[in-house]
Amino acid sequence: MVAITSEEEEIEVLQGSVESTISLQDSDGDIDQEEEEDEEEEPVTLGFVEKPKNLDSLLPQFFPSKAGGTPAWLDPVDLPSEKSRTCGICGDPLQFLLQVYAPISGKDSTFHRTLFVFMCPSMTCLLQDQHQQWKRRPEKQCRSVKVLRCQLPRSNTYYSSEPPKLGKASRSLGVGAALCSWCGTWKGDKVCSSCRNARYCSEKHQAVHWRSGHKQACKQINISSQFSESSTSNGKTTSNQAVASNFLWPEFEIFNEDETEYEYDTEVSESGYSSSLVLKEQKNETMGAIMRDFEGDDDKRSWASFQVRTGKAPEQVLRYTQDSKAKPLWPMASGRPSKADIPKCNYCDGPLCFEIQILPQLLYYFAVKNDVDSLDWATIAVYTCKDSCDTSVAYKEEFAWVQLNSQTTTPA
Ligand SMILES: [Zn+2]
Ligand SMILES: [Zn+2]
Ligand SMILES: [Zn+2]
Ligand SMILES: [Zn+2]
Repeated sequence: MVAITSEEEEIEVLQGSVESTISLQDSDGDIDQEEEEDEEEEPVTLGFVEKPKNLDSLLPQFFPSKAGGTPAWLDPVDLPSEKSRTCGICGDPLQFLLQVYAPISGKDSTFHRTLFVFMCPSMTCLLQDQHQQWKRRPEKQCRSVKVLRCQLPRSNTYYSSEPPKLGKASRSLGVGAALCSWCGTWKGDKVCSSCRNARYCSEKHQAVHWRSGHKQACKQINISSQFSESSTSNGKTTSNQAVASNFLWPEFEIFNEDETEYEYDTEVSESGYSSSLVLKEQKNETMGAIMRDFEGDDDKRSWASFQVRTGKAPEQVLRYTQDSKAKPLWPMASGRPSKADIPKCNYCDGPLCFEIQILPQLLYYFAVKNDVDSLDWATIAVYTCKDSCDTSVAYKEEFAWVQLNSQTTTPA
C-alpha cells in the first residue's frame, strides 16, 4: 500500500494553485508544451475523497459518487441477487467499496448510471481471487471483487426528472427495499423469527448481529411491538435504517478533477511560484532517473512510470475515463490482462471497455492496516459493457481485474 503523507488541506492548496496557473496562462499567453509526453495519455478524470460537508449530499436522490459506508442504491427496490452480493470464495456478503455516478449522454437509458464496486475484506480471498480472474470463462469465475452497473432513464419511478436541490429534498426517497439490519448494504430478505423486525441479507450477518447486541435488543423490540404495528412487515420501508455493523469502511464523498489540471503544476514550479510544487517537480526528476536505472526490469520501470504519473496528484484514489481507447495505468508490467483475458458482456455479448481504475490510496483513507494479512492491491481496473446495454436485470455484473503487488505471495 502506498502511504500518503499529505493532508486534505493540500488538495485545497493544489486547487488554488491550479486556478492561479490558469490566470497566469491568460496574462502571459503561451505556456511551453510539456517536454516529455507519456506514450498514451488519453484524458482521465481523477477521483479524490473527502469527508462530506453535508451528509445529505450522499443520499441516492443526489446521485453521489462515494466510497465506504453503505451504497446509495440507484434502483432502490430491485436490489442485487444473493449470487451478486456474496464473495465467490468464502461465501460471506461483500463489503461496499465505492460507487461512481457516471451517466452517458446521448442515450436515454443511461441518463442516470452508477457503477458500484464491492469486495470481500479478506486478503486471503483476494489472493484466491487472483487465480479466478485468469479463468477465461467468466461463468467459471468465483470472484471476491464484483462490479455492478445500474442505470435509469430520465423519466423513471424513483427520481424527479429535474435535478434535486440540496436542503429542499426530503431525506427519504419514499420507497426502497428493506435492508440488512447489520450491514445496511444488501437487501434484508431474511427476518429475525423472534422480533420479526430485524432483517438480514445472510445468516452470517444475523449471527454476528445477535452476538453483538441484538440478543438483548430483540426482546425489547418484541415487547414494544406488541403495542404498535410493525411498519416494516411488508418488506418495504420509508425511513432511513440504522446500520449496526461497525466494520464498514469509513464514508467519504468522491469529487473529481481533470488530470490535465495537474499538468499545470509543473509549469508553476518551473516559474518558481510554489515551493511545494518545485519539490514535487524535483521528485519527478528523481523518478525519471530511477526509471533510467531500471531499464531492463519491466516491473520496476512500470512502477516508476506509474509513480511519476500518479505523483502529479498523489491523493487520487481513482482514475476515470469514458474514452474507449484509454488503458489502465498499470503499476506493474506483469499480471496485466491480455485482450483475451477480458470477457465479453454477460448480457449482450459485446466487448467490455476499461472505465475505472481504483488505487490503493483508498486503503489509506479507510485506515486499513499496512501489514501482510490486511487487504492490499496495486490496482483494480474496472471494465464495463461498451454499449452500457440495458436488460431487465437492474444491477448488471461487470468485470474487475485486480493487480496485486508483486511481492505479495500467492498461496499454492
Ligand atoms: Zn471472501
Ligand atoms: Zn448484511
Ligand atoms: Zn430479533
Ligand atoms: Zn452489454
